[in-house]
Amino acid sequence: MNHDDEAHAVTSTLYAPPTENVTRRLLRRVLDVVLPAACVACNKLVREPADSLGLCDDCRGHLVRWPSRCCATCGKTLDASHLPASYRCGECRRQEPPCAVVLSGWSYQPPIDAVLTGLKFRRLEYLGGQLARELARLFRDRLTDCDLVVPVPLHWRRYLSRGYNQAAAIATPLAAELDLPTASVLRRRLSTPAQSQLRRVERTGNLKGAFSVKRPSLCAGRHVLLIDDIVTTGTTVNTAARCLLNAGVASVTTLTAARTP
Ligand SMILES: [Zn+2]
Ligand SMILES: [Zn+2]
Repeated sequence: MNHDDEAHAVTSTLYAPPTENVTRRLLRRVLDVVLPAACVACNKLVREPADSLGLCDDCRGHLVRWPSRCCATCGKTLDASHLPASYRCGECRRQEPPCAVVLSGWSYQPPIDAVLTGLKFRRLEYLGGQLARELARLFRDRLTDCDLVVPVPLHWRRYLSRGYNQAAAIATPLAAELDLPTASVLRRRLSTPAQSQLRRVERTGNLKGAFSVKRPSLCAGRHVLLIDDIVTTGTTVNTAARCLLNAGVASVTTLTAARTP
């Protein structure tokens, strides 16, 4: 499933105005505690434990981690076995990519696709916190060099239609887990057409100039942990990372909840 396709199809049709008033939010919290919730993937009723990613036990058992046999830099899966953990793919050896490391929690397939769809399109913003706790548990040891968490931004038009940025919904609680500051220093300048609507060869050019840095002084010299919900071609995170590096950031590590296989 391609999330950008959905972004265009769904935001305009399914989404009511984004603001949820405090009473309704409180009521929802109370109902979550009192009533069983439905698994976001299979709809089976479950009494939702705090860190289930909204999934029943069965579905949780089917989560597929992003393979560890991947390029140490860009994170693309590698066919060969018995490679050292530090092995880098030919592309990364030929030209240093803007992201020093790209890490992803899960392969974008059922049931994590339903979790991310829930976060992005069903207004289940609390799933961001659960993803953040899980990602912190999985990757804490590999993020010790990072000293600032930055979410990949939405263009303001899409932000208004959704009511929140799903990357920030993960980044903010993740920063708290890691005891790091967070700063939304990136701005999305262009409302770019969905990446999926373009042929692969057109994609790189599509995002040129798509990001700018609002307050370079907040991130200059920092080792940024860039957060997004999903990485597909890598163009978005690489373009954002290049923009951060141009603004004086020392290095960029990218962490996404999922990655398309
Ligand atoms: Zn389920
Ligand atoms: Zn690579």
